[in-house]
Amino acid sequence: MPVAVHWFRKALRLHDNPALAKAVAACSAPNSSLLPVYTLDPHFVKNSHIGTNRWLFFLESLQDVDRSLSESGSKLLVLRGEPMTLFSTLFDTLIANGETVSLYFEADTSPYARNRDAAMLELCASKNIAVHTFNSHTLFNPSDVIKVNGGITPIVYQSFLKVITEKMPAIQPATPTLTQVPPLSDEMKALLTYTETFGFDAFQVPSMEDIGKAVPGENLVSTHKGGEREALKRLEEYMKQKDLVCKFQKPETNPAAFQPASTTILSPYLKMGSLSARTFYHELMKVYRASKIGYTKPPVSLLGQLYWREFYYTAGYGTPNFDKMLGNPICKQIPWRTDEQSNVDLEKWATGQTGFPWIDAIMIQLKQEGWIHHLARHSVACFLTRGDLYISWERGAKVFEKLLIDADWSLNTGNWLWLSASAFFHQYFRVYGPVSFPKKYAPESVKYVRKYIPALKNFPEKYLFEPWKCPIADQKKAGCIIGKDYPKPMCDHDAVSKVNIGKMKVAYDEGKVASPPKAPKGKKRPLDED
Ligand SMILES: Cc1cc2nc3c(=O)[nH]c(=O)nc-3n(C[C@H](O)[C@H](O)[C@H](O)COP(=O)(O)OP(=O)(O)OC[C@H]3O[C@@H](n4cnc5c(N)ncnc54)[C@H](O)[C@@H]3O)c2cc1C
Repeated sequence: MPVAVHWFRKALRLHDNPALAKAVAACSAPNSSLLPVYTLDPHFVKNSHIGTNRWLFFLESLQDVDRSLSESGSKLLVLRGEPMTLFSTLFDTLIANGETVSLYFEADTSPYARNRDAAMLELCASKNIAVHTFNSHTLFNPSDVIKVNGGITPIVYQSFLKVITEKMPAIQPATPTLTQVPPLSDEMKALLTYTETFGFDAFQVPSMEDIGKAVPGENLVSTHKGGEREALKRLEEYMKQKDLVCKFQKPETNPAAFQPASTTILSPYLKMGSLSARTFYHELMKVYRASKIGYTKPPVSLLGQLYWREFYYTAGYGTPNFDKMLGNPICKQIPWRTDEQSNVDLEKWATGQTGFPWIDAIMIQLKQEGWIHHLARHSVACFLTRGDLYISWERGAKVFEKLLIDADWSLNTGNWLWLSASAFFHQYFRVYGPVSFPKKYAPESVKYVRKYIPALKNFPEKYLFEPWKCPIADQKKAGCIIGKDYPKPMCDHDAVSKVNIGKMKVAYDEGKVASPPKAPKGKKRPLDED
């Protein structure tokens, strides 16, 4: 009997999920079964770079998928262990029972996934199992973009736009939402009783405790809830604000705005795949088409934001060692600090103890909620790297990877490369002022700092972003002594940023880039401006 195994990884959704839709369609023959599987891979479970908020958000996303499947009488089989070993046993069990097995999953372009999936293809080939993969995590398949660009990875956003608008086929409509999936038969459940030997119920989405993760303390639980339902609700609510959508200009959005934030906060859902980028795109197009006031354009528009995502996915796919400085052909080779003190400074930055309230409030929001605004990310990334601390973007990216609920290999790496002026962006002399920048966003930035740093709750507004300048009498009145209740600044921004610009200039003048990307023999680099 045919069994279509659907392997959930990202794409934790029933809307616009072509791999799942095809697996369901393959079950139209009588006596065929759909087996939805998730594998909790020790590579991730044991990985200390995933923080508790992201685990919570992920488990909520998984529970939501299981809930949707259960509504049709199906169930998600959550296996815990190394995927190849688990699938090998699963396939053997099914084959021994006389089933004809096929496997469906969404393609994933991140380095670990590419290796894992290559191994899966080999495993399936060895067992004569047909495999069907689909690209639905991004609007464009990164390898197709590179192919139509003559084998060159576009590393300039405008060039990338040209490629996708002039050379790529139109974005396909979203796959219809699955309102019904085949139920999981009792026979199939009986066949899978071997999973009971694992010592846990594999038809149960595990809790944080089940997978050995500490539940975060009350004030450290993110207010962002995971799952497809929440994702679609948020998308719908945002798209109702037609003026906001049509006038969206990213640089004009306020990084200090909270409740509501000034951008969509859909990134964690796109990352998990509980929201399809294509669904987002088509909903956006509906609003644009119906608009009587016109709409903004990339790179600053909301569509432009989706294209930034595509841009970094493509760059990440086509660039060797994308997440490293060494061996990365598009990355400036900068001698970042590696001294002992840099460990201490990194820790101060990561824990919101720099003594610069704007920087600290952002890092505290990040730790508590797992999401911060794009310009807030700019501020702290610039501060850590070329702005103030001269610490490698790779170390900053690791901290983000742990704390962000939307942590995404391509986007996190690409944006850190940008902010540290290591790739994509080269105006290293344009530095964010940790005091001057937040002043532009008052009064929201004032409320923001007071919310995330309670010690500064009553601090006079005049000194809020540079509290060390506040007269001691006023500090006493505010109940916050700088150096005791809140740290002194860890550096003199004006002085240190000048020194760092000088160091960046030297690195740039020495032309320290690993080596520029080259076109395959005989081909030009037609659209690549950099
Ligand atoms: C140092 C640094 C690290 C970052 N790390 C991540 C990360 O790990 N994961 C992540 O999703 N985003 C990352 N970003 C990009 C960006 O900050 C977030 O995508 C955005 O702030 C998410 O909020 P939103 O959903 O409200 O965005 P919106 O402005 O509403 O944009 C809609 C969607 O477009 C995409 N998008 C927006 N801005 C960017 C961008 N600059 N690059 C790529 N895609 C973008 C996201 O998927 C986002 O959800 C990083 C930015 C910086 C500066």
